[in-house]
Amino acid sequence: MRKIILMALLCTIATANAQNTGLFKDETTFTRQDTLRGSITPERAWWDLNYYDLDVTVKPDEKYISGFNTIRYLVLNTNQVMQIDLQPPLKIENVTQNGKKLDFTNDGNAHFITLKEKQKVGDYNEIIVYYSGHPKEAIRAPWDGGFSWKKDKNGKDFIATSCQGLGASVWWPNKDHMYDEVDSMKISVTVPKDLTEVSNGRLIGVDEHKETKTFHWFVSNPINNYGVNINIGDYVHFGEVYQGEKGPLDMDYYVLSYNLDKAKEQFKQAPKMMEAFEHWFGPYPFYEDSYKLVEVPYLGMEHQSSVTYGNKYENGYLGRDLSGTGWGLKFDFIIIHESGHEWFANNITYKDIADMWVHESFTAYSENLYLDYYFGKEASAEYVIGTRKAIRNDIPIIGKYDVNNEGSGDMYYKGANMLHTLRQLVEDDEKWRSILRGLNKDFYHQTVKTKQIEDYLSEKTGIDLSAFFNQYLRTVMVPNLNYKIEGKTLSYKYTDVVENFDMPVQVLVNGEEQWIQPNKDWQELTAKTNINSFEVDNDFYIYHTEIK
Ligand SMILES: [Zn+2]
Repeated sequence: MRKIILMALLCTIATANAQNTGLFKDETTFTRQDTLRGSITPERAWWDLNYYDLDVTVKPDEKYISGFNTIRYLVLNTNQVMQIDLQPPLKIENVTQNGKKLDFTNDGNAHFITLKEKQKVGDYNEIIVYYSGHPKEAIRAPWDGGFSWKKDKNGKDFIATSCQGLGASVWWPNKDHMYDEVDSMKISVTVPKDLTEVSNGRLIGVDEHKETKTFHWFVSNPINNYGVNINIGDYVHFGEVYQGEKGPLDMDYYVLSYNLDKAKEQFKQAPKMMEAFEHWFGPYPFYEDSYKLVEVPYLGMEHQSSVTYGNKYENGYLGRDLSGTGWGLKFDFIIIHESGHEWFANNITYKDIADMWVHESFTAYSENLYLDYYFGKEASAEYVIGTRKAIRNDIPIIGKYDVNNEGSGDMYYKGANMLHTLRQLVEDDEKWRSILRGLNKDFYHQTVKTKQIEDYLSEKTGIDLSAFFNQYLRTVMVPNLNYKIEGKTLSYKYTDVVENFDMPVQVLVNGEEQWIQPNKDWQELTAKTNINSFEVDNDFYIYHTEIK
């Protein structure tokens, strides 16, 4: 999840985000804060995250939080200064190592902690960061991020965090860069006694106090920062055991008490999703941590093993079909899309948000694979082609590196159509499926750069896709097939293409399907008879123009 794809809404979202995240900023306006947030600084590079033990008390009446994060790390290189991020107005109160207080300075969100003890390569060390304050409130979650302090219909507190792009340091102190995922994590959250708290992974214990309860959750797999979340509400729970590719998988659902009946009906799509996506992408990547759907007071987000849901128990995207074909109303957008991210975002994660297409293009594409599984190939093609109306070709899909900058919102449906086009080039659906499964196996629980994914797809398809990806990910040009028909002769070439772009395309000449491989130069094809009809297969995301 991230941006809505409807054009009218995009501008608003861009504005909302630009203030916080660097989204859609001009290159010249990047600041030192963007670099501190978006690059692997020397104060980050020398240590490798191993374990977080995050303990937070949430006081809804005061919109106040306090707690600490124990950070265990492996020393990779000697260095005495460590960068930990936390965004104002939250404040770091103390940092300790082995019981001794440490000095630190701060530069905006970045805090530089001077370690007293010598950091020896190969050692596992810990620091504890104590913090508190009134965290930034999310106004338009999940597009901005922070804490959503809401009430349910019964007037009970209904609270959730979201922070993609903006960064997890908006609500807890951590190494706020995507390249280094923590290997496992404990999340303990203390809330007023009458409420339930749901985070990622498995519930390993609940402590009862006089007026509060502490919920302890454990995530046994690597997790990215923005995937970590707190959800607090008057929840009821139901669940099931799904027999999946790796064996029994616990699927648990937490919804507001008065939505239980609706949820029991709508969440029947969760095991259906699991079946379709295990087929296309391979085993769900977090069996050990279970799968959860958790109701929240905003639209939804791909929080790892606790996908958050706020789609009002309706099919479509808040009841709308993003493709305009009718197929978008055959599924609950949030259940399908956000769960698709378990494979592309949570299993395979970008190192730099500039490569966010790795999350969103594959996941937007997963919507049509879900349709393919239940309604067939034609339905799925109609859907993904229908979403082309959302493509803007404003700026390239890949953003700027090292400054926490996302590329175009076209990473959703232009990306999905790029992958749909690639499926046509592979021309073998079983092979294509094995490549999608292979990605999830070979990059299992890893953070990646776009180049790794691009090279993998070239290697496994046996097609040199470098110009293909340069075209669709790094420019706003749509290949334009120019053609001329004179008697039996079809002449064709591409315009608006990058160097060496020569993607084959299927066309219908006099109703007969055939492949042509245009490039920048005119080529000719001679038909048996005069050419009376010519069509370009709409599965390919290109334009075509007849030259008279
Ligand atoms: Zn998404």
